[in-house]
Amino acid sequence: MHIPILTYHAMNVASNRYAENDHLALAQDLQTIRQLGLRVISLSSVVDWWRGLLPDHAVEGCLAITMDDGSWFDYYDLNHPTCGPQRSMLNIARDFRNQHQGQPAIPMSSFVIASPKARSQLDRTCMLGKGWWDDDWWEAANQEEVLSIECHSWDHTHPTLDQVAQKDNQRGNFAAVACYEDCYRQVVEAAAHIEAIAGRRPEFFAYPYGQASAYLRYEFMPKFQHEHRFNAAFSILPKAVEKSDDRWFLPRYVCGRDWQSTRELKALISS
Ligand SMILES: [Zn+2]
Repeated sequence: MHIPILTYHAMNVASNRYAENDHLALAQDLQTIRQLGLRVISLSSVVDWWRGLLPDHAVEGCLAITMDDGSWFDYYDLNHPTCGPQRSMLNIARDFRNQHQGQPAIPMSSFVIASPKARSQLDRTCMLGKGWWDDDWWEAANQEEVLSIECHSWDHTHPTLDQVAQKDNQRGNFAAVACYEDCYRQVVEAAAHIEAIAGRRPEFFAYPYGQASAYLRYEFMPKFQHEHRFNAAFSILPKAVEKSDDRWFLPRYVCGRDWQSTRELKALISS
């Protein structure tokens, strides 16, 4: 028994072709998922199954959908300067539901970066500098119950930031977050900040770059759960979730890296 989790990056808009546009990929992948007779369930359901709270038959033929980095492209339709109008990931899921009678809502989880300062700098260094990395949509997304706001660290320790929450200001390597103080800032303070803005405590954590130090994965996550209050954490190890996987390093497939076409997606999820 295994459950694939698919991960998209809504900021991946390099052209209007499937392999270079995660919006087009998601729209087409939802059709493929339906054609294969598979069903999208929430990340909470995946973790409930892993914990033994849901039986195997309840999640048979199921998969989950997550998104990383959390910009406006998740929530708002935007006019991309070179690629033109882009439907938001949320609206793609809504459109899909409206196209098919009896189709239940598609639950998705969006892993966002907590620090407003980091997002504002990243907006200029890695996106388009249009203020599209704001958090004004988080609370509304949570209220819809189809787009849950989850945690992707305090600042992603991104290489283009001046200052990151890592004791030596080591950037571009989340595995350098390896002591209690740094983990507290990147995990606990991030969760509290997201809760304050989004109106709901995030339930899940996704490691930036899929990287976790041994301390974070084996000590901080399991032993300080009373502090961070997460239920599970996710890597980008390319495989489906199995019961034998580590609850604090659950695997996910990444669009563009692990599949670039409908044929490749089918090979991942129809086995
Ligand atoms: Zn990320």
